[in-house]
Amino acid sequence: MANECLFCRIVKKEIPASIVAENGHCIAFRDINPQAPTHILVIPRQHVASLNEAKDPAVIAQMHQMAVQLAKAEGLSERGYRTVINTNADGGQTVFHIHLHLLGGRHMTWPPG
Ligand code: 5GP
Ligand code: ZN
Repeated sequence: MANECLFCRIVKKEIPASIVAENGHCIAFRDINPQAPTHILVIPRQHVASLNEAKDPAVIAQMHQMAVQLAKAEGLSERGYRTVINTNADGGQTVFHIHLHLLGGRHMTWPPG
């Protein structure tokens, strides 16, 4: 766990966040700057900098499992939603603790910006 990592500090409850789900593996909270009516970030409790460093496939699976559960809880399952993991500079990653964006509640365009 990186002491100075923003999302590790949210895991440790040192920084407040609007937490919507937690289990032994992951924690989910609302994005501070939402890009859709529902915009939730799902992160592993353990510090993993990016998808490039996610050596344990279980971490990726656990994040997606929680996203699917949250999509259902938010009433998005039938209409649809988008899950995104941004990686490094070209991917638009700004926080280097891996996170899955769950976006929904509006129609998503393609290609993404
Ligand atoms: P990235 O650009 O790395 O894929 O996504 C980082 C996300 O974290 C952004 O959507 C940004 O709004 C969100 N974010 C940054 N700082 C905070 C924070 O302190 N609290 C919450 N809830 N979200 C944050
Ligand atoms: Zn971290």
